[in-house]
Amino acid sequence: MQTATGTLLIRNGQLVDGNGGLPVRDAAVVVEDGSIRYAGPAAAAPVLPPQTPTIDACGGTIMPGLVEAHFHPTYFNVAALEDLDIKYPVEYVTLLAAANARLALECGYTAARSGGSLFNIDVWLKKAIENGIAAGPRLAASGREICGAAGLMDWNPVYRKIGMEGLVLIVNGPDEARAAVRKLVKDGVEWVKTYPTGDAAAPDANDHHTLCMTFEEMHAVVQTAHNHGLKVTGHCRATEGIKNALRAGYDAIEHGTFIDDEGLEILLARDVPCVPALYFEQMSVERGPEFGLSKRVIEGHQETLEGGAESARRILRAGGRLGMGGDYGFAWNPHGDYAKELSFFVEYVGLTPLEVLTCATRTGAQIMGRGDEFGTLEAGKLADVLVVDGDPTRDIRVLQDRSKFVAVMQAGVVKAGRGLQPAAR
Ligand SMILES: [Zn+2]
Repeated sequence: MQTATGTLLIRNGQLVDGNGGLPVRDAAVVVEDGSIRYAGPAAAAPVLPPQTPTIDACGGTIMPGLVEAHFHPTYFNVAALEDLDIKYPVEYVTLLAAANARLALECGYTAARSGGSLFNIDVWLKKAIENGIAAGPRLAASGREICGAAGLMDWNPVYRKIGMEGLVLIVNGPDEARAAVRKLVKDGVEWVKTYPTGDAAAPDANDHHTLCMTFEEMHAVVQTAHNHGLKVTGHCRATEGIKNALRAGYDAIEHGTFIDDEGLEILLARDVPCVPALYFEQMSVERGPEFGLSKRVIEGHQETLEGGAESARRILRAGGRLGMGGDYGFAWNPHGDYAKELSFFVEYVGLTPLEVLTCATRTGAQIMGRGDEFGTLEAGKLADVLVVDGDPTRDIRVLQDRSKFVAVMQAGVVKAGRGLQPAAR
């Protein structure tokens, strides 16, 4: 990935630094050789030569680039999960994933953590982005997801010959779980994504289905992954499944939908972050009928929506960490709508815009294990910056409107936004 050289000044806007404090009015950010040299009040900024290249924030906001904490670049806006496996060959899905990554960057997302990938595409997409041959968020890559036999992702009867091979590694028992992780180690993933529990969207493993993987399988996954320096997360909705995953040593929890007091206690004691991914549920309820979702499935999504919102509020209020990631890549929840997750957390869940912005920047970077490199605007960090003509601390919906983006920047290089100079791409 290209790093800018020289000095750049961003001025005439308020600073939201990602740490959760009140915005700094009339701020300036000075970028030097791709990193932040200064972020704070303009009055205290270092004096720069008059010809220093300058971005005018138009009286808007200078903030860290957003982090999508549950990103599926390889999900191509499907209406049925099994389409992921049978609709296109891997060659075409790779091209679609590259297009989705570029779109995410244009939407202000300068980093993202993969929540599961078809084949091993995300590992190579990440390399392509790092090598500057594709545009996209800095990526934490996961690979094929691990699921217990007959669990959430293994519902197709054998005679249909749909094995979901591109998406999941089906395991039976701890030995097979270890073997699956070792495959992923060789693939080069950073995160091992698993399916400990059910989901409203699944034909026969509903939200309260708690044992899509046994504790022994989860524990084997964690031990093997940690032995190789990989992190583990999982699709955790059901109460007991959440606790099993936390006790097995998971590094993050996706969804955490029906967490109880005991689960919350373990989550907080181990400081495990949770990525609720909830706007997906609202869209499943609202638009499900157009896409043929059954009444039972839609009722399940409604229950997940309410339970998930309550759990997210409790986790944050109790001092836990939430990442903002939306599971985009379904027909009713397509790529490009990423910032709708942020608006949803203000309007439906009841968090303040500043809380959501902190979750979507600093916490996202921490979940990626790169909190010391980006996620906040502070001296020494990479200049991954979003400059918006508007005030997301008053109206977070402005982040859904790409025409308001003055600049989307990675390491000081403007990659998107209306300030984009053709030569910069
Ligand atoms: Zn997902």
